Formats: sequence, structure tokens, C-alpha cells
Amino acid sequence: MQQTRLAWKRETVQWLSTLLLLFIPFVRVGGESLLRLDASSRTLYFFGAAIRIEEFYLVLLISLLFMFIFLFVTMLFGRVWCGWFCPQSTLTDLLEALERRIKKRLGQSSVAAAARYLAPALLAFLVASNLIWYFIPPVDYLRRLLGGELGLVAGITLFSVGGLVWVDLTFIRRYFCKAICPYGRIQLMAMDVNTLTLEFDPTQAHRCIRCNSCTRVCPTGIDIRKGFQVECINCGRCLDACRGVLNRLNQPGIMQYTFGRRSAGGGRPVNPRSLLVMLLIMALSGMFLFATLHRSQGTIKVSRGGDGTVRRLPDGGVVNFYTAYLENRSRVPALYGIRVSGGAGQKIELLGPTERIKVAANENRRVDFMVRVTPAPAAPEKLKLRLLQEGEQLAEAEMTLLVK
Ligand code: SF4
Ligand code: SF4
Repeated sequence: MQQTRLAWKRETVQWLSTLLLLFIPFVRVGGESLLRLDASSRTLYFFGAAIRIEEFYLVLLISLLFMFIFLFVTMLFGRVWCGWFCPQSTLTDLLEALERRIKKRLGQSSVAAAARYLAPALLAFLVASNLIWYFIPPVDYLRRLLGGELGLVAGITLFSVGGLVWVDLTFIRRYFCKAICPYGRIQLMAMDVNTLTLEFDPTQAHRCIRCNSCTRVCPTGIDIRKGFQVECINCGRCLDACRGVLNRLNQPGIMQYTFGRRSAGGGRPVNPRSLLVMLLIMALSGMFLFATLHRSQGTIKVSRGGDGTVRRLPDGGVVNFYTAYLENRSRVPALYGIRVSGGAGQKIELLGPTERIKVAANENRRVDFMVRVTPAPAAPEKLKLRLLQEGEQLAEAEMTLLVK
């Protein structure tokens, strides 16, 4: 009897997810990274959309969406992230395999000892750089690093994150998953009696030959034969080990994945709780899509300009100074115009560069202008400023005309 092993499937998933995180910053959509937070312009580039800090509700929606997706996956599949996706596990596996090879070839030599510290250092540098690539595009990062112009924040991030990852990969490794990882703790709160777990089938316990293969391969050092334990990361190594041993005796393995511990009355992955979270995910996805598709491609904000003075004219008119910020949220340059309206029977004129204003994609351009109203009203008045593109109104803002 020969049952299939999970190892190659797990390793494929592990490497795909780790490489995905590594290469996402290199993928560009419309000239920008697929996912990047640009701190200087306070803009989140998210799958082709440029979301500015002013649109915080969209960032909030994305964050909530990801939070509920992780909650849903954890409710259904337990700590599957830790065992099948987490880059920390992938890098630890890689280092352990590397160390086995080095030991085999170089024994206990000083080169082998140096490699034990050097290999995690290289990986730590890569991990820290990879994190920074989600803020500074990889090519810029490399140019700035080689030119010694990385900057204080990026430099501190590189050294602190790189240092922590090096300590983790050199000295902590699996103990991190078992006792330190905060996400591991959070996952435990999301799991319930219906969550996928790996179970030592109690009805087949008599077939166990006590070879201890399952405990020897367990990365978190637990004995799954004693029942469900929170340290289990659902990696399936014990299942493979048991199948390996018992298949040779022409028997099936004893371990199995089940949705919920039978002893705890589980077995219903589709339940009111999981359905509710799924509905929330669908609702949040719909809201995010709607908000993204219906967001204006341009915005305008206006404030008092100059030193805030009001100029009275000999002909009875009044002039106010303003500063407007025109934001082009689209992926292409735009030519904008601004118009003013309001007042009752007065002549209102815009003075300044208010026609054919070039605004690059994702630019937030400042425009200083004046408004002359003749005759001046007796009291302050509200005026409306409109942002136009090819005659079509994109946005509007309100401003107050002062008279003295
Ligand atoms: S008990 Fe099995 S599935 Fe759980 S962590 Fe250990 S080897 Fe992985
Ligand atoms: S690997 Fe299987 S047979 Fe061996 S001790 Fe574990 S459960 Fe028993």
C-alpha cells in the first residue's frame, strides 16, 4: 500500500507564497508597483489604484477585508498559514536543509561554522530589503543603497529588521512559531471545534507501532498522539512520517486531517459562524469595489492664500486670495480648469492660472489664484469652486469671500 505524501505539495505552496511576497514589488501596473505605500506622497498603490491618505476609508476597507479573510481562513483551516505559507517556516526549512548539506560535505570545519551565521545574515538582508521594497521601489532602493543615500528611516529599518530576522533565523527558528509569534496567538482565538486539525485517529491507535517517527519530524516538538495541541501548525509532516512507516507494513497511516476534533463535537466547517464571516467578506469586497469604481478621478481643495488679506478696489470691488490643490487620481496626465460661481448679481472673475492646468498622474498640484467680485457684497459670501476636465465637472469645493 502506498499513500500519497503531502511534503511536495506543502513545499510548493510554501515556496510560491514566499516568492510571491518577494516579487510583488517588482510587478508594475501603469508604471507603479502592484502594492506599495509611498510615504512621501502618502499614497497607497494597490493593484493599479492610487489611494491617497485623504481616502483613508478605502485603506480602512482594505485592512478590514484582509483581517476578515485571515479570520475566515483560520476558522476553517487553523494554523495553516504557519505550516503552509509563512515565509519564516520556508526560510527555516531552507536553512536546515542547507546546514544538513554543509555538515555532510564539510563536517564540523570552521567554514561550516561560519556558514551557520553567514547564510541567515544573507537571508535577513533579503527579508529586510524586501520589506523596504513595499515602500521604496526595488530599483530606487538599490541605487540609493549603492550610492550611500538610503536615508535615515530606511537605513534604521534595514538594520533593525535585518538584525531581528538574523537573530530569529540563527537562534530562535521553530521556537518562534511555538511561543513568540503574535499572529500564532491571534489565530488560536479564531479557531473553534470545526477547524481543520490533524488528528491521531483514536479508533486506529492499536495499529501504532510506537516508532516515534511522527514526533521526530514535528517542527514544533509535540506528540500529536496525545491529542490536539495549540502548537500544531497543520504542516502534515507527522502524517507523511506515519504513512511512510505503516505503508511499508501494507497499512494506511493513522494520522488524518479532519474538520474539527470529533471528541469535541466538531465536523461542521459550514456553520453559522463561518457563513457570517464569509458574508462580511463579500459585503466588504462589494463596498471596496463600489467605492473604488465610483471615486472621482480628480479632487479640489481650497484654502485662503497669500497672507489672508482682502483688497478693496476703487471701483467698489473686492479681491480675495486663495490656494487650491488639484489632485489627479487617474493613471494619466490631465488638463484641468477651475470655475467659480456664487454671488447675487455681482460680477465674479477668476484671476490667475485657472485654465489648462497640467496635472501629472497622481500629482497633487498647488495653484494660487485671486477672485475679484464687483461690487463687493455687504457681508462675507459663500462661493463655489468647480474642477473641470474637458467641460465635465469632476469635483467642487466651497470658499468664503471676505469683504474686509
Ligand atoms: S503535529 Fe504534525 S501537523 Fe502538527 S506541527 Fe507537528 S508535524 Fe506538523
Ligand atoms: S509514526 Fe505512526 S506508527 Fe509511528 S509512532 Fe507515530 S503514529 Fe505510531
